[in-house]
Amino acid sequence: MELVNLKDPQEIVSFKQAVKKGLGKNQGLFFPEGFTPLSDIDACLALSLQERSALILKHIIGDELTSTEIENIVNQAFNFPAPVEQVTENIKTLELFHGPTLAFKDFGGRFMAQTLSHISDGAPITILTATSGDTGAAVAHAFHGIDNINVVILFPEGKISPLQEKLFTTLGGNIHTFAIDGDFDACQAMVKTAFDDAEVRDGLHLNSANSINISRLLAQVCYYFEAFSQIDKNDRDKVVLSVPSGNFGNLTAGMIAKALGLPIKRFVAATNANDTVPRYLKTGEWEPNDTVATMSNAMDVSRPNNWPRIEAMIERGIIDGALLNGVAIDEESTMIAMKELANKGYISEPHAAIAYKALEHTLEDGEVGLFLGTAHPAKFRETVENVLGNPIALPEPLVKCSVEKSLDESLPNDYQALKAAMFERLAK
Ligand SMILES: *Cc1c(COP(=O)(O)O)cnc(C)c1O
Repeated sequence: MELVNLKDPQEIVSFKQAVKKGLGKNQGLFFPEGFTPLSDIDACLALSLQERSALILKHIIGDELTSTEIENIVNQAFNFPAPVEQVTENIKTLELFHGPTLAFKDFGGRFMAQTLSHISDGAPITILTATSGDTGAAVAHAFHGIDNINVVILFPEGKISPLQEKLFTTLGGNIHTFAIDGDFDACQAMVKTAFDDAEVRDGLHLNSANSINISRLLAQVCYYFEAFSQIDKNDRDKVVLSVPSGNFGNLTAGMIAKALGLPIKRFVAATNANDTVPRYLKTGEWEPNDTVATMSNAMDVSRPNNWPRIEAMIERGIIDGALLNGVAIDEESTMIAMKELANKGYISEPHAAIAYKALEHTLEDGEVGLFLGTAHPAKFRETVENVLGNPIALPEPLVKCSVEKSLDESLPNDYQALKAAMFERLAK
Protein backbone atom coordinates (compact mmCIF):
# COMPACT_ATOMS: atom_id res chain seq x y z
CA MET A 1 0.00 0.00 0.00
CA GLU A 2 1.29 3.42 -0.97
CA LEU A 3 0.17 6.59 0.77
CA VAL A 4 0.84 10.17 -0.23
CA ASN A 5 1.10 13.20 2.05
CA LEU A 6 -1.86 15.40 1.04
CA LYS A 7 0.15 18.56 1.81
CA ASP A 8 3.46 17.42 0.34
CA PRO A 9 2.95 14.92 -2.53
CA GLN A 10 6.71 14.26 -2.64
CA GLU A 11 6.38 12.35 0.63
CA ILE A 12 5.23 8.82 -0.20
CA VAL A 13 5.15 6.17 2.53
CA SER A 14 4.18 2.54 3.04
CA PHE A 15 1.31 1.40 5.28
CA LYS A 16 3.74 0.52 8.09
CA GLN A 17 5.46 3.89 7.89
CA ALA A 18 2.12 5.71 7.88
CA VAL A 19 0.98 3.81 10.98
CA LYS A 20 4.21 4.60 12.82
CA LYS A 21 4.39 8.26 11.76
CA GLY A 22 0.71 9.19 12.05
CA LEU A 23 1.17 12.59 10.40
CA GLY A 24 3.49 13.56 7.55
CA LYS A 25 5.56 16.69 6.91
CA ASN A 26 3.78 20.03 7.46
CA GLN A 27 1.16 18.14 9.48
CA GLY A 28 -0.07 16.56 6.20
CA LEU A 29 -2.40 13.54 6.25
CA PHE A 30 -1.40 10.31 4.50
CA PHE A 31 -3.89 8.92 1.99
CA PRO A 32 -3.76 6.53 -0.98
CA GLU A 33 -4.17 7.90 -4.54
CA GLY A 34 -7.18 5.64 -5.06
CA PHE A 35 -8.86 2.34 -4.19
CA THR A 36 -9.36 -0.80 -6.27
CA PRO A 37 -12.92 -2.14 -5.86
CA LEU A 38 -13.34 -5.61 -4.40
CA SER A 39 -14.24 -8.17 -7.05
CA ASP A 40 -17.28 -9.88 -5.52
CA ILE A 41 -19.21 -7.86 -2.94
CA ASP A 42 -21.97 -10.46 -2.40
CA ALA A 43 -19.45 -13.21 -1.69
CA CYS A 44 -17.59 -10.86 0.64
CA LEU A 45 -20.80 -10.00 2.51
CA ALA A 46 -21.54 -13.69 3.01
CA LEU A 47 -18.42 -14.13 5.20
CA SER A 48 -18.21 -13.70 8.98
CA LEU A 49 -17.16 -10.32 10.42
CA GLN A 50 -13.62 -11.52 11.08
CA GLU A 51 -13.09 -13.42 7.81
CA ARG A 52 -14.51 -10.56 5.78
CA SER A 53 -12.55 -7.87 7.64
CA ALA A 54 -9.28 -9.76 7.11
CA LEU A 55 -10.06 -10.07 3.39
CA ILE A 56 -10.90 -6.36 3.01
CA LEU A 57 -7.83 -5.20 4.95
CA LYS A 58 -5.54 -7.53 3.02
CA HIS A 59 -7.02 -6.15 -0.21
CA ILE A 60 -6.26 -2.56 0.88
CA ILE A 61 -2.91 -3.07 2.64
CA GLY A 62 -1.40 -5.55 0.16
CA ASP A 63 1.89 -7.38 0.63
CA GLU A 64 3.23 -5.52 3.65
CA LEU A 65 1.42 -7.94 5.96
CA THR A 66 0.70 -11.60 5.22
CA SER A 67 -2.87 -12.92 5.28
CA THR A 68 -2.07 -14.80 8.47
CA GLU A 69 -0.72 -11.66 10.15
CA ILE A 70 -3.83 -9.70 9.20
CA GLU A 71 -6.09 -12.54 10.37
CA ASN A 72 -4.31 -12.60 13.74
CA ILE A 73 -4.60 -8.84 14.14
CA VAL A 74 -8.30 -8.86 13.18
CA ASN A 75 -9.15 -11.78 15.45
CA GLN A 76 -7.63 -10.00 18.45
CA ALA A 77 -9.04 -6.58 17.56
CA PHE A 78 -12.61 -7.35 16.44
CA ASN A 79 -13.71 -9.75 19.15
CA PHE A 80 -17.17 -8.27 19.71
CA PRO A 81 -20.26 -7.96 17.48
CA ALA A 82 -21.75 -4.98 15.57
CA PRO A 83 -25.48 -5.74 15.27
CA VAL A 84 -27.97 -3.88 13.07
CA GLU A 85 -31.25 -3.11 14.88
CA GLN A 86 -34.55 -2.06 13.31
CA VAL A 87 -35.67 1.27 14.83
CA THR A 88 -38.62 2.38 12.67
CA GLU A 89 -40.18 0.89 9.56
CA ASN A 90 -37.58 2.39 7.25
CA ILE A 91 -34.75 3.26 9.66
CA LYS A 92 -32.14 0.95 11.16
CA THR A 93 -29.09 1.52 13.34
CA LEU A 94 -25.67 -0.11 13.35
CA GLU A 95 -24.66 -0.53 17.00
CA LEU A 96 -20.92 0.00 17.31
CA PHE A 97 -20.80 0.07 21.10
CA HIS A 98 -20.44 -3.54 22.14
CA GLY A 99 -16.66 -3.41 22.62
CA PRO A 100 -14.76 -3.04 25.93
CA THR A 101 -15.24 0.74 26.22
CA LEU A 102 -18.70 0.90 24.69
CA ALA A 103 -17.96 3.22 21.76
CA PHE A 104 -17.06 2.74 18.09
CA LYS A 105 -13.54 3.95 18.81
CA ASP A 106 -12.80 0.44 20.12
CA PHE A 107 -12.64 -0.79 16.49
CA GLY A 108 -9.96 1.65 15.36
CA GLY A 109 -8.11 1.72 18.68
CA ARG A 110 -7.82 -2.06 18.98
CA PHE A 111 -6.81 -2.54 15.35
CA MET A 112 -4.16 0.15 15.66
CA ALA A 113 -2.78 -1.32 18.90
CA GLN A 114 -2.50 -4.83 17.47
CA THR A 115 -1.00 -3.52 14.22
CA LEU A 116 1.62 -1.39 15.97
CA SER A 117 2.58 -4.25 18.22
CA HIS A 118 2.94 -6.56 15.17
CA ILE A 119 5.04 -4.17 13.10
CA SER A 120 7.25 -2.67 15.82
CA ASP A 121 10.88 -3.69 15.98
CA GLY A 122 10.74 -4.06 19.76
CA ALA A 123 11.96 -0.54 20.54
CA PRO A 124 9.71 1.09 23.17
CA ILE A 125 7.01 3.45 21.86
CA THR A 126 5.01 6.03 23.80
CA ILE A 127 1.47 6.79 22.73
CA LEU A 128 0.60 10.32 23.84
CA THR A 129 -2.96 11.50 23.48
CA ALA A 130 -5.39 14.05 24.89
CA THR A 131 -8.98 13.03 25.39
CA SER A 132 -12.36 14.43 26.31
CA GLY A 133 -13.67 10.90 26.82
CA ASP A 134 -14.14 8.16 24.27
CA THR A 135 -10.74 8.18 22.57
CA GLY A 136 -8.79 7.90 25.81
CA ALA A 137 -10.81 4.94 27.02
CA ALA A 138 -10.58 3.09 23.71
CA VAL A 139 -6.84 3.71 23.36
CA ALA A 140 -6.12 2.77 26.98
CA HIS A 141 -7.97 -0.54 26.77
CA ALA A 142 -6.61 -1.33 23.33
CA PHE A 143 -2.95 -0.92 24.41
CA HIS A 144 -3.28 -2.19 27.97
CA GLY A 145 -0.72 -4.93 28.60
CA ILE A 146 0.98 -4.68 25.18
CA ASP A 147 4.76 -5.11 25.50
CA ASN A 148 7.06 -2.17 24.80
CA ILE A 149 4.24 0.33 24.35
CA ASN A 150 3.47 2.91 27.03
CA VAL A 151 0.37 5.07 26.87
CA VAL A 152 0.10 8.57 28.32
CA ILE A 153 -3.37 10.10 28.43
CA LEU A 154 -4.11 13.71 29.34
CA PHE A 155 -7.61 14.75 30.25
CA PRO A 156 -9.19 17.91 31.67
CA GLU A 157 -9.62 17.42 35.41
CA GLY A 158 -13.26 17.40 36.47
CA LYS A 159 -14.59 17.95 32.95
CA ILE A 160 -15.36 14.35 32.00
CA SER A 161 -18.18 12.34 33.51
CA PRO A 162 -16.87 10.30 36.47
CA LEU A 163 -17.80 7.00 34.80
CA GLN A 164 -16.08 7.92 31.53
CA GLU A 165 -12.98 8.79 33.53
CA LYS A 166 -12.97 5.47 35.38
CA LEU A 167 -12.90 3.61 32.08
CA PHE A 168 -9.30 4.68 31.50
CA THR A 169 -7.86 5.82 34.85
CA THR A 170 -8.29 2.46 36.60
CA LEU A 171 -6.16 0.27 34.32
CA GLY A 172 -2.61 1.02 35.54
CA GLY A 173 0.36 -0.97 34.22
CA ASN A 174 1.53 0.59 30.95
CA ILE A 175 -1.37 3.11 30.98
CA HIS A 176 -0.40 6.44 32.58
CA THR A 177 -3.18 8.99 33.09
CA PHE A 178 -2.75 12.67 33.98
CA ALA A 179 -5.59 14.94 35.09
CA ILE A 180 -4.67 18.41 33.85
CA ASP A 181 -5.83 21.56 35.60
CA GLY A 182 -7.26 23.05 32.38
CA ASP A 183 -9.72 22.36 29.58
CA PHE A 184 -9.47 19.93 26.66
CA ASP A 185 -7.78 22.53 24.44
CA ALA A 186 -5.09 22.96 27.10
CA CYS A 187 -4.49 19.19 27.07
CA GLN A 188 -4.30 19.17 23.30
CA ALA A 189 -1.87 22.11 23.33
CA MET A 190 0.44 20.19 25.69
CA VAL A 191 0.37 17.16 23.38
CA LYS A 192 1.28 19.38 20.46
CA THR A 193 4.15 20.97 22.40
CA ALA A 194 5.47 17.50 23.26
CA PHE A 195 5.48 16.46 19.59
CA ASP A 196 7.41 19.66 18.76
CA ASP A 197 9.94 18.96 21.53
CA ALA A 198 12.67 16.80 19.97
CA GLU A 199 13.97 15.66 23.34
CA VAL A 200 10.59 14.16 24.20
CA ARG A 201 9.55 13.09 20.69
CA ASP A 202 12.75 11.21 19.94
CA GLY A 203 13.67 10.29 23.52
CA LEU A 204 10.33 8.60 24.21
CA HIS A 205 9.49 7.61 20.58
CA LEU A 206 6.17 9.43 20.59
CA ASN A 207 3.20 8.29 18.51
CA SER A 208 -0.26 9.82 18.64
CA ALA A 209 -3.18 7.43 18.37
CA ASN A 210 -5.76 9.94 17.23
CA SER A 211 -8.16 9.50 14.33
CA ILE A 212 -5.67 10.81 11.77
CA ASN A 213 -3.83 7.48 11.96
CA ILE A 214 -4.61 5.55 8.78
CA SER A 215 -4.91 2.23 10.62
CA ARG A 216 -7.89 3.49 12.59
CA LEU A 217 -9.72 4.54 9.44
CA LEU A 218 -9.10 1.24 7.65
CA ALA A 219 -10.45 -0.68 10.64
CA GLN A 220 -13.64 1.36 10.52
CA VAL A 221 -14.22 0.54 6.85
CA CYS A 222 -14.95 -3.06 7.94
CA TYR A 223 -18.07 -2.35 9.95
CA TYR A 224 -19.86 -0.70 7.05
CA PHE A 225 -19.58 -4.05 5.27
CA GLU A 226 -20.78 -5.78 8.43
CA ALA A 227 -23.88 -3.55 8.41
CA PHE A 228 -24.72 -4.44 4.80
CA SER A 229 -24.26 -8.14 5.50
CA GLN A 230 -27.19 -7.84 7.91
CA ILE A 231 -29.43 -5.95 5.49
CA ASP A 232 -31.77 -7.77 3.12
CA LYS A 233 -30.24 -8.30 -0.34
CA ASN A 234 -33.12 -6.44 -2.03
CA ASP A 235 -32.57 -3.38 0.15
CA ARG A 236 -28.81 -3.07 -0.20
CA ASP A 237 -28.86 -0.48 -2.98
CA LYS A 238 -31.35 1.77 -1.12
CA VAL A 239 -29.27 2.51 1.97
CA VAL A 240 -28.68 6.12 3.04
CA LEU A 241 -25.99 6.31 5.71
CA SER A 242 -26.15 8.93 8.44
CA VAL A 243 -22.91 9.44 10.35
CA PRO A 244 -22.72 11.48 13.58
CA SER A 245 -19.57 13.47 12.86
CA GLY A 246 -16.89 15.31 14.81
CA ASN A 247 -13.46 14.86 13.25
CA PHE A 248 -15.04 13.06 10.26
CA GLY A 249 -12.96 9.89 10.51
CA ASN A 250 -16.07 7.75 10.55
CA LEU A 251 -17.50 9.37 7.43
CA THR A 252 -14.13 9.06 5.66
CA ALA A 253 -14.19 5.31 6.38
CA GLY A 254 -17.75 5.06 4.99
CA MET A 255 -16.63 6.73 1.77
CA ILE A 256 -13.69 4.33 1.47
CA ALA A 257 -16.19 1.46 1.85
CA LYS A 258 -18.17 2.90 -1.06
CA ALA A 259 -15.00 3.30 -3.13
CA LEU A 260 -14.32 -0.41 -2.51
CA GLY A 261 -17.70 -1.24 -4.04
CA LEU A 262 -20.15 -1.29 -1.13
CA PRO A 263 -23.40 0.00 -2.71
CA ILE A 264 -24.09 2.85 -0.26
CA LYS A 265 -26.62 5.09 -2.03
CA ARG A 266 -25.62 8.38 -0.39
CA PHE A 267 -24.30 9.92 2.86
CA VAL A 268 -25.57 12.33 5.48
CA ALA A 269 -22.94 14.15 7.55
CA ALA A 270 -24.80 14.83 10.80
CA THR A 271 -23.32 17.39 13.19
CA ASN A 272 -24.38 19.27 16.31
CA ALA A 273 -24.17 23.07 16.51
CA ASN A 274 -20.51 22.77 15.45
CA ASP A 275 -21.66 22.87 11.85
CA THR A 276 -18.63 23.92 9.80
CA VAL A 277 -19.17 21.13 7.26
CA PRO A 278 -22.96 21.45 6.73
CA ARG A 279 -22.49 25.20 6.16
CA TYR A 280 -19.56 24.56 3.83
CA LEU A 281 -21.59 22.10 1.76
CA LYS A 282 -24.33 24.71 1.35
CA THR A 283 -22.26 27.85 0.75
CA GLY A 284 -18.87 26.64 -0.43
CA GLU A 285 -17.26 28.81 2.28
CA TRP A 286 -15.03 27.19 4.90
CA GLU A 287 -15.73 29.33 7.96
CA PRO A 288 -15.18 27.53 11.27
CA ASN A 289 -16.76 29.25 14.27
CA ASP A 290 -15.51 28.92 17.84
CA THR A 291 -16.29 25.44 19.15
CA VAL A 292 -19.39 25.35 21.35
CA ALA A 293 -20.10 22.79 24.07
CA THR A 294 -23.07 20.47 23.46
CA MET A 295 -24.57 17.27 24.91
CA SER A 296 -22.92 15.33 22.09
CA ASN A 297 -19.49 16.39 23.28
CA ALA A 298 -17.50 13.87 21.23
CA MET A 299 -18.66 15.89 18.21
CA ASP A 300 -17.71 19.31 19.59
CA VAL A 301 -15.22 19.97 16.82
CA SER A 302 -15.27 22.96 14.51
CA ARG A 303 -12.09 22.20 12.52
CA PRO A 304 -12.49 18.51 11.68
CA ASN A 305 -9.04 17.03 11.13
CA ASN A 306 -10.09 14.35 8.62
CA TRP A 307 -11.88 16.73 6.27
CA PRO A 308 -8.90 17.07 3.85
CA ARG A 309 -9.19 13.34 3.13
CA ILE A 310 -12.86 13.67 2.16
CA GLU A 311 -12.03 16.69 0.06
CA ALA A 312 -9.26 14.71 -1.70
CA MET A 313 -11.66 11.83 -2.46
CA ILE A 314 -14.16 14.27 -3.98
CA GLU A 315 -11.52 16.17 -5.97
CA ARG A 316 -10.09 12.96 -7.40
CA GLY A 317 -13.52 11.62 -8.36
CA ILE A 318 -13.23 8.67 -5.95
CA ILE A 319 -16.54 9.84 -4.45
CA ASP A 320 -19.22 11.99 -6.10
CA GLY A 321 -19.54 15.07 -3.89
CA ALA A 322 -23.25 15.32 -4.80
CA LEU A 323 -23.83 12.18 -2.71
CA LEU A 324 -22.99 14.03 0.52
CA ASN A 325 -25.56 16.05 2.45
CA GLY A 326 -24.83 17.98 5.63
CA VAL A 327 -27.40 18.41 8.39
CA ALA A 328 -26.81 20.23 11.69
CA ILE A 329 -29.07 19.38 14.65
CA ASP A 330 -29.42 21.76 17.62
CA GLU A 331 -29.72 20.80 21.30
CA GLU A 332 -33.50 21.12 21.35
CA SER A 333 -33.94 18.78 18.36
CA THR A 334 -31.40 16.36 19.84
CA MET A 335 -33.53 16.01 22.97
CA ILE A 336 -36.68 15.62 20.88
CA ALA A 337 -34.97 12.89 18.85
CA MET A 338 -33.93 11.02 22.00
CA LYS A 339 -37.53 11.15 23.29
CA GLU A 340 -38.96 10.05 19.93
CA LEU A 341 -36.58 7.10 19.86
CA ALA A 342 -37.46 6.17 23.45
CA ASN A 343 -41.17 6.24 22.50
CA LYS A 344 -40.38 3.75 19.77
CA GLY A 345 -38.73 1.55 22.38
CA TYR A 346 -35.13 2.45 21.49
CA ILE A 347 -32.99 4.11 24.18
CA SER A 348 -30.26 6.18 22.58
CA GLU A 349 -27.72 8.85 23.46
CA PRO A 350 -27.16 12.31 21.95
CA HIS A 351 -24.64 11.40 19.18
CA ALA A 352 -26.73 8.65 17.59
CA ALA A 353 -29.92 10.67 18.13
CA ILE A 354 -28.44 13.45 15.99
CA ALA A 355 -27.72 11.02 13.18
CA TYR A 356 -31.27 9.65 13.44
CA LYS A 357 -32.81 13.13 13.31
CA ALA A 358 -30.64 14.15 10.35
CA LEU A 359 -31.86 11.08 8.50
CA GLU A 360 -35.49 12.00 9.14
CA HIS A 361 -34.78 15.36 7.47
CA THR A 362 -33.49 13.86 4.23
CA LEU A 363 -34.84 10.33 3.78
CA GLU A 364 -37.02 9.86 0.69
CA ASP A 365 -39.67 7.26 -0.17
CA GLY A 366 -38.20 3.91 -1.05
CA GLU A 367 -34.92 4.57 0.79
CA VAL A 368 -33.64 2.69 3.82
CA GLY A 369 -32.00 4.85 6.50
CA LEU A 370 -29.07 3.54 8.51
CA PHE A 371 -27.57 5.64 11.31
CA LEU A 372 -24.48 4.74 13.28
CA GLY A 373 -24.86 4.12 17.01
CA THR A 374 -21.47 5.41 18.09
CA ALA A 375 -21.74 5.00 21.90
CA HIS A 376 -23.70 3.06 24.48
CA PRO A 377 -26.38 5.24 26.15
CA ALA A 378 -24.91 4.44 29.59
CA LYS A 379 -21.71 6.28 28.63
CA PHE A 380 -23.80 9.45 28.62
CA ARG A 381 -25.90 8.38 31.55
CA GLU A 382 -26.48 11.78 33.20
CA THR A 383 -27.67 13.37 29.95
CA VAL A 384 -29.82 10.42 28.93
CA GLU A 385 -31.47 10.18 32.33
CA ASN A 386 -32.09 13.94 32.43
CA VAL A 387 -33.69 14.00 28.99
CA LEU A 388 -35.75 10.82 29.33
CA GLY A 389 -36.56 11.17 33.02
CA ASN A 390 -35.87 7.49 33.69
CA PRO A 391 -32.88 5.68 35.16
CA ILE A 392 -30.94 3.48 32.75
CA ALA A 393 -29.06 0.30 33.55
CA LEU A 394 -25.25 0.17 33.49
CA PRO A 395 -23.67 -2.48 31.28
CA GLU A 396 -21.05 -4.84 32.68
CA PRO A 397 -17.81 -2.97 31.74
CA LEU A 398 -19.05 0.21 33.45
CA VAL A 399 -20.20 -1.60 36.59
CA LYS A 400 -16.81 -3.26 36.81
CA CYS A 401 -14.64 -0.16 36.56
CA SER A 402 -16.98 2.04 38.64
CA VAL A 403 -15.85 0.28 41.83
CA GLU A 404 -12.13 0.31 40.99
CA LYS A 405 -9.63 2.88 42.20
CA SER A 406 -8.58 5.73 39.89
CA LEU A 407 -4.81 5.82 39.40
CA ASP A 408 -4.48 9.19 37.66
CA GLU A 409 -2.01 11.84 38.77
CA SER A 410 -3.01 15.53 38.89
CA LEU A 411 -0.76 18.00 37.08
CA PRO A 412 -0.88 21.78 36.63
CA ASN A 413 -1.47 23.19 33.15
CA ASP A 414 2.28 23.44 32.64
CA TYR A 415 4.21 21.61 29.92
CA GLN A 416 7.43 21.36 31.96
CA ALA A 417 5.56 19.54 34.73
CA LEU A 418 4.21 17.04 32.20
CA LYS A 419 7.64 16.56 30.63
CA ALA A 420 9.23 15.85 34.02
CA ALA A 421 6.44 13.42 34.96
CA MET A 422 6.75 11.56 31.64
CA PHE A 423 10.52 11.15 31.92
CA GLU A 424 10.21 10.05 35.53
CA ARG A 425 7.78 7.30 34.64
CA LEU A 426 8.86 6.22 31.17
CA ALA A 427 12.57 6.75 30.54
CA LYS A 428 14.42 3.60 31.39
C1 LIG B 1 -15.61 10.22 18.29
C2 LIG B 1 -17.09 10.16 18.31
C3 LIG B 1 -17.88 10.66 17.26
C4 LIG B 1 -17.29 11.42 16.09
O1 LIG B 1 -16.59 10.58 15.22
P1 LIG B 1 -15.58 11.19 14.12
O2 LIG B 1 -14.98 10.03 13.45
O3 LIG B 1 -14.60 12.02 14.89
O4 LIG B 1 -16.40 12.04 13.20
C5 LIG B 1 -19.26 10.49 17.32
N1 LIG B 1 -19.85 9.88 18.37
C6 LIG B 1 -19.13 9.39 19.40
C7 LIG B 1 -19.84 8.75 20.53
C8 LIG B 1 -17.74 9.51 19.41
O5 LIG B 1 -17.03 9.04 20.46
